[in-house]
Amino acid sequence: MNIEFYGAAQTVTGSQHLLTIHGYKILLDCGLYQGRREEASRINRNIHWDAKSIDALVLSHAHIDHAGNIPTLVKNGFSGTIYSTFATRDLCSVMLSDSAMIQMKDARHLLEHKGEYIEPLYTIDDVADALSLFNGIAYEKRFEPVPGVFFTFYDAGHLLGSAIVLIEWQENGIIKKMMFTGDLGRVNRPILRDPVHIGDVDYIISESTYGGRYHENEGDIEAELLDIIHDVVEKRGKLIIPAFSVGKTQELVWYMNNIYNRGLMPKIDVFVDSPLAINATGVFRLHPECFDEQTRKILYRDDDLFAFPGIKYVKDVIESKKINRSGKPAIIIAGSGMCESGRVVHHLIHSIRKPNTTILFLGYNAPYTLGRKIADGEKRVRLMGDYYTVNASVRQLHGLSGHADHTGLIEYLSNRNISAVKKVFLVHGEIESQKILKQSLVEKGFADIMIPAKGDIVTI
Ligand SMILES: [Zn+2]
Repeated sequence: MNIEFYGAAQTVTGSQHLLTIHGYKILLDCGLYQGRREEASRINRNIHWDAKSIDALVLSHAHIDHAGNIPTLVKNGFSGTIYSTFATRDLCSVMLSDSAMIQMKDARHLLEHKGEYIEPLYTIDDVADALSLFNGIAYEKRFEPVPGVFFTFYDAGHLLGSAIVLIEWQENGIIKKMMFTGDLGRVNRPILRDPVHIGDVDYIISESTYGGRYHENEGDIEAELLDIIHDVVEKRGKLIIPAFSVGKTQELVWYMNNIYNRGLMPKIDVFVDSPLAINATGVFRLHPECFDEQTRKILYRDDDLFAFPGIKYVKDVIESKKINRSGKPAIIIAGSGMCESGRVVHHLIHSIRKPNTTILFLGYNAPYTLGRKIADGEKRVRLMGDYYTVNASVRQLHGLSGHADHTGLIEYLSNRNISAVKKVFLVHGEIESQKILKQSLVEKGFADIMIPAKGDIVTI
């Protein structure tokens, strides 16, 4: 087998790895590269592979950096089957459509404001074509996308529908096994199950996002959240929560719903201000097969995990603007998670100067993003071209990360016969993180660990 590493090699974005085996080509993930505008556009538009020559695509999960460039692959002639779990397929339906709308809007904006014509990376038609190629596969059901090569999805506990992928094939009569972690989740997360252990393998392609980094002790998330909500009610202010629309938003609402069910939720309006979050929440409701035991138990008493009196899902942009005109205290959950774009920016413009506003971050903000600046305590920030003084208080809620940290990665990867592992490939991480993770894995006894660079082809 040959593995060509192209996306997410020494970086965390644009996940794509091509397997060539027995004359067949199978692509693992087809993520969108996210980064500086021009560079991203160049990488995403010029699909590295001859799309027509790829026989099948196996998708670990629906996050845009893993699935977001599938429509471009299809537009370029890929006509094979796309294998994913059912929930991943459904999340792709809403997330790729949303992504196409953004691409189309950006192109229109450039034309109207700068007279520059660019073709959208892909359109809603390309997304429809891509969705018609999906084949949903349940967890732990073996499938054979090309003759003689078997795949199985195991729950990765990272996002609804996310999978660790096991690949099995024969060479000279000997069965070989390789594990691709996709993005590896954590134990004890809300809604989702823990990552499933899959036993001994010969090869591992592992993510390394949190190599060398550790999640802060999460404490009692519900209690912390309740404390923040009480504070906002007392100050008669707004609580603005920048959140990713898929995953984080549902987890947060799940916690609030639990608080309500325990009779502890104060009387306050809660707005989920994101059309994408609304559609994604619909997908969550459709897939109880992905829920952990705790969440299934809640369903016995409460048939809707994502709604309680006082919560309102806001689709319409006029409704969204009305939220700010009302002087009433409110909780506003809106995208984007790092405040770079989306409706949250408008809410910040309206409320960031007020001392009774609280901004609550749910996790990591990438360097140079507006979210990072606010989280770091900058007192003046730029929003839509104008400067605003930050008088709002800033809080952090830890414990909602979707990724295993350094310890989690080591524990998961080591839970097998280490001496049987012939080679580990570290992908989906910044090089510094990867080096630290590699060192720890060497100390654990892994013999051969490689950090492939973009374009490396390895024969195993
Ligand atoms: Zn992910």
